[in-house]
Amino acid sequence: MNLTHPFLDADGDKLREECGIFGVIGARDAAAMTALGLHALQHRGQEAVGIVSYDGQDFFARRGLGHVAQVFSDAAALAELPGEMASGHVRYSTTGGQGLRNVQPLHADLARGAFSVAHNGNISNAMSLKRELVQRGSIFQSTSDTEVIIHLIATSRYHKLLDRFVDALRMIEGAYSLICMTPKRMIACRDPLGIRPLVMGRIGDATVFASESVALDVVGAEFLREVEPGEIVEVRQDGRITSHRPFGDVGARPCIFEHVYFSRPDSVMGGQSVYEVRKRIGMELAKESPAEADLVIPVPDSGVPAAIGYAQESGIPFELGIIRSHYVGRTFIQPSDGARHADVKRKHNANRALVEGKRIVLIDDSIVRGTTSLKIVQMMRDAGAKEVHMRIASPPTSHSCFYGVDTPERSKLLAAQMDVAAMAEYIHADSLAFVSIDGLYRAVGEKARNAACPQHCDACFTGEYPTPLTDMLERDADTSQLVLPVGNVA
Ligand code: AMP
Repeated sequence: MNLTHPFLDADGDKLREECGIFGVIGARDAAAMTALGLHALQHRGQEAVGIVSYDGQDFFARRGLGHVAQVFSDAAALAELPGEMASGHVRYSTTGGQGLRNVQPLHADLARGAFSVAHNGNISNAMSLKRELVQRGSIFQSTSDTEVIIHLIATSRYHKLLDRFVDALRMIEGAYSLICMTPKRMIACRDPLGIRPLVMGRIGDATVFASESVALDVVGAEFLREVEPGEIVEVRQDGRITSHRPFGDVGARPCIFEHVYFSRPDSVMGGQSVYEVRKRIGMELAKESPAEADLVIPVPDSGVPAAIGYAQESGIPFELGIIRSHYVGRTFIQPSDGARHADVKRKHNANRALVEGKRIVLIDDSIVRGTTSLKIVQMMRDAGAKEVHMRIASPPTSHSCFYGVDTPERSKLLAAQMDVAAMAEYIHADSLAFVSIDGLYRAVGEKARNAACPQHCDACFTGEYPTPLTDMLERDADTSQLVLPVGNVA
């Protein structure tokens, strides 16, 4: 049993993960479609993948460590997963939580039938719930926070599955988008604040759910709508769809960081093109923090749309001054520090012929630890850039996320340790500026951030967490770093 806190014990098993989920019911090739959908969500997690299918009689599962294309590389792997209903999960885990036992979807045979669950998000009272469950006799198979949901359903005193499910969700705090399967139906839901995304689509007679709309595009499904915050959508084998809203309306707080970095730019989220939002962030940045320069250069790929926006707004030409190798994964998604450092060098190279003798504005989406910025600024200087002005398409990331986006503990966040001037010095930039929080809200289509009741979860920038953080508070005597909680309390 692991009851260590993810942010307090760097070496212990972690309960936390970030990931992408996909599910389909009513399609002849459900598992193959799920593999394709997960492939489109690969950017959300690259360490492990799993698919569970149901053929009307039995459930089948295949899970593995690695990318979708590795684990489901051949027809034989998919042939192990027959049936018209399937769901899957791509996962990123931090050190210690990587074993196969944590790879989702998790599946269990409960008293009233089998149940499988794929979860995107993080349950912020999982450890305290787990402790109670273990005291009452539950035996956990994994260190994943998601398993708590299964045990809560198993031990609920209600009779009907849906009532047991709602009963379990009422005890959970934090962020969860779930795709669940029982022998009779697929159940998809979002937490009452809708912190993590989940969309719904249709292909032929089949209903599809996915973390992002890009997965619907890739499998050829039509986008229907988002699963609403706090909504439970039940799809029966015959295609009938029922919507339940047991939590009422508490006011949505979808994660704003999905727009900044996490989602693919070709996804539509909250009715907004992620690409357009990122471009608008760049425009806001250009208005708020202009720079005298010859070129606007994105840190590829995450800085590209914002750099286009910055260039359009400022009139400074957009150029590719850094070329990215496409044969390495994202910098951040590597469990150990050593691997991350080596990756920055393998990943990016300066376009010396372009940048030599120029004053450049470098655009990236965020500074987390500062590792990327430090190396890229140096790379530009080594390539002969005369001045390097760094502009960041998000406010300073000053607080850890407890809702399923991997961020390091607060002590490793550059913005938690330094002010902007000190950060500029640390990364050796001639100037450094971040978009303001209101500029970010304008880019996602709001007039400004509503301080009394923010329209998004922006805790990584503000420290205002929209739910209680039970596990965190239990363990951390020093709560001075947190501003807790404001706005909607789930
Ligand atoms: P760092 O080098 O630690 O400052 O990380 C900053 C880089 O990591 C930026 O270029 C971002 O594109 C990327 N990044 C920011 N947040 C995340 C995240 N949660 N997961 C993966 N990559 C991230």
